[in-house]
Amino acid sequence: GGPAPERPRAGGGAAPPPRPPPAMPDRPLPFDQPVFVTRPLLPPLEGFVGRLRDVWSSGWLANGGAQHQALERALSEHLRCAHLSLFNNGTIGLIVACQAVRLSGEVITTPFSFPATPHVLSWNNVTPVFADVEPGTMNLDPAAIEPLITARTTGILGVHVYGTPCQVDAIDEIARFYGLKVIYDAAHAFGAEIDGRPIGSFGDATMFSFHATKLFHTAEGGALAVNDPDLKRRIDLLKNFGIRDEEHVVMPGINGKMSELSAALGLEVLKLVDAERTRRAHIARLYAQRLAAHAGVSLLRPPANVRDSLQYFVVRIDASRTGVSRDLLHARLREFNIVTRKYFYPLCSRYSCYRHLPSAQPANLPVATRIASEVLCLPFHGGLSDDAVHRICDAIDHAIAG
Ligand SMILES: *Cc1c(COP(=O)(O)O)cnc(C)c1O
Repeated sequence: GGPAPERPRAGGGAAPPPRPPPAMPDRPLPFDQPVFVTRPLLPPLEGFVGRLRDVWSSGWLANGGAQHQALERALSEHLRCAHLSLFNNGTIGLIVACQAVRLSGEVITTPFSFPATPHVLSWNNVTPVFADVEPGTMNLDPAAIEPLITARTTGILGVHVYGTPCQVDAIDEIARFYGLKVIYDAAHAFGAEIDGRPIGSFGDATMFSFHATKLFHTAEGGALAVNDPDLKRRIDLLKNFGIRDEEHVVMPGINGKMSELSAALGLEVLKLVDAERTRRAHIARLYAQRLAAHAGVSLLRPPANVRDSLQYFVVRIDASRTGVSRDLLHARLREFNIVTRKYFYPLCSRYSCYRHLPSAQPANLPVATRIASEVLCLPFHGGLSDDAVHRICDAIDHAIAG
């Protein structure tokens, strides 16, 4: 390349009229800093430090201190749970839930989730049995559950993926008929409701994750919500080594306790949750307006009777209409410093620890297999300005056009 040498001008007289500048390149500018899918809510440090002063003067750092008690109460109210138990993370909570309802043998679950979902079954010596999902909600398809039930089946582990609730009534009916336990992974569903009923009120137990990537968080943390007070007592024993009192250890428990430091952080983060939801709802509307221009980009919006958890903003890419695959769009957006995520690709059923299972064969999971190749989570958190959302959408327009 390089510019061609200028031809000497005849006559050597007056300069020609200036050429018009080249058309502005249509390519949007990349972001200076990477834009991630999420960013943890960080409360004003002063409030957190104030709570730490209380913790310091109490000299009590763990084992259900004042912060823990206050957060358990505050969250029970916020989530309208009958009974809530805090945990050091959601995964340990889910492991304890499986123990508490005594799952064994086989449990039917979804392949379209985070690794923790099938892993908690493995940690309980339970074989995960993968059932296909519905194309709309991307959650366990009740019609796919029943054919997989055997004499060894003891439960159903559903995931309210991206905060969209499972078909809880249909799952409940199957569980009652076959005498199965139902546990929900609601890691994405903080604050979700179905017909005004809180998400933590369905099934035998519901797990919430309070990891830093979740809308409400305690840096690391989680909780179990249950309706049965006896089950709550059992869960609280299991999360504290099975210690009933000074002289009695009544079951082989684990250490699932949330510390005072995490609980103190959670109490401050909880103050920000309503404003964060409002901001995220606005960003979701902006995305929806802009992305409506692309027939091949469909949005996952919850049905009208569902209160959105606003945890993720998910799109599905129909490559036959956009002309670009999900993977190509993901790669092109990286060039603009936009870090989207392919949650949940690969399917859990593709992990080396599960792919040998009969239920893990792709032929058993056609919907999940297709969806996993189409979904993309866009940056979605209250720290994104309107301008940033428009720039992300400009980059999507460009990536699809180019
Ligand atoms: C985040 C997440 C978990 C794990 O929660 P931790 O609190 O990180 O242990 C489990 N399931 C799903 C679907 C998740 O997104």
